[in-house]
Amino acid sequence: MPRLIDPFARAVTYLRVSVTDRCDFRCVYCMSENMKFLPKKELLTLEELDRMCTTFIGLGVEKLRITGGEPLVRKGIMSFFDSMTRHLDSGALRELTLTTNGSQLERFADDLYAAGVRRVNVSLDTLDEEKFARITRWGRLPQVLRGIDAAQKAGLRVKLNTVALKGFNESELFTIIDWCAARDIDLTWIEVMPMGDLGNEDRVGQYWSLEDMRTQLRERFTVTELSESSGGPARYVRLEETGQKIGFITPLTHNFCESCNRVRMTCTGELYLCLGQEDKGDLRAPLRNHPEDDGPLIAAIEEAISRKPKGHDFDYSRQQADGQVSRHMSHTGG
Ligand code: SAM
Ligand code: SF4
Repeated sequence: MPRLIDPFARAVTYLRVSVTDRCDFRCVYCMSENMKFLPKKELLTLEELDRMCTTFIGLGVEKLRITGGEPLVRKGIMSFFDSMTRHLDSGALRELTLTTNGSQLERFADDLYAAGVRRVNVSLDTLDEEKFARITRWGRLPQVLRGIDAAQKAGLRVKLNTVALKGFNESELFTIIDWCAARDIDLTWIEVMPMGDLGNEDRVGQYWSLEDMRTQLRERFTVTELSESSGGPARYVRLEETGQKIGFITPLTHNFCESCNRVRMTCTGELYLCLGQEDKGDLRAPLRNHPEDDGPLIAAIEEAISRKPKGHDFDYSRQQADGQVSRHMSHTGG
C-alpha cells in the first residue's frame, strides 16, 4: 500500500537512487572535464543506502532505480544489489533496476541478474567510435558494446537511452534504430536538458527537438502514437513497418508532471522532489543522528513528500534556458 502521497494526490512509488557522483566517463552534457567530487565521508555508506532504501520500501516504494554518476564504479556496489534482493523475494519491491553507461557491464551482468535485476538502461549516444570518444571524453565504445552483449547474454533486457544532439547524432537516427531492431534492444530518445554550468563552449551537440525527430521518422516509417505511459516522462510511438516501439523523453514539456510517481535521492542523502526544481529534503541527518530509530527518518521523508511541487519550469521557448537548475545530472542521477 502506498503511504507516500503528495499534495496533488500522487502516490510516490518509485525511487531513483544515485549511489555515487563519480564516473569513468565525462560526457560533455553531463560533466565538466575536471569535476570535483565529494569527499567520501559525505557519501552514504552502502549500509546507509540499504537502510534508506529499506525505509522507502516500507513506505510503499515498489521500484528502485540505481544510478549515479556511474553506479557500477562504486566500490562494493554488488553487495548493495545483493542486499536488495531480499525485498524482491518478499514481494515488497517489484523492480530493481539501474541506469548505466555500460562500461562495467561485462564484469557485472551475471551478478546483476543473480541479484534479481531483469532490465537495464544503457546510455549510448552514438555507434561511431570516434564520436563516442568525443562525446564521453573518456569512454571507449567497444567496451560498452561488449557490456551490452554480456547483459543480453545474462538475460537482462536492455534499453538504450540516447540523448538527441543536433549536429551530432541526428545523422544516426536510422542507424541507431536499425541497430536496436537487429538486437531486440528497446530505444528511448532523450531531449537534452539545461543542466549545470559545464563550460562547454565547444558543445559537441545542441538541442534537437524530438518533435523534429518525429517528422524525420515519418519520412521513412508509418508512425503510430501510443497512449500508454509508464507514469514517467516517456511517450511512445510504434513504427508499423518494424513493430518497434520507440520512447521519447521530453523533459522540457510538462506533459508528464501530473502522473509523476517518483523522487530522487542523491548519494549524500538529499531527496529531490522534482528533477527540474531545487527544492529538496535532507535525509542523511535524521538517518545518521538516529542509528537505532527510523522514526525521524520516516518523518523527514514524509515532510519532504508533502512539499513535492506540481511540476517543473524548464522552458526553451523564451530563447534562453529558463528554469535551468545548477546541479549536474550526475548529482541527481538523471
Ligand atoms: N552514468 C549513468 C549513465 O550515463 O547512464 C547513469 C547516470 S546519467 C547522469 C543518467 C542519464 O542522464 C544518462 O542517460 C545521461 O545521458 C542523461 N543525461 C546527463 N546529462 C543530461 C542532460 N544535460 N540532458 C539530458 N540527459 C542527460
Ligand atoms: Fe557519467 Fe552518465 Fe554523466 Fe556520462 S551521463 S558523465 S556516463 S554520469
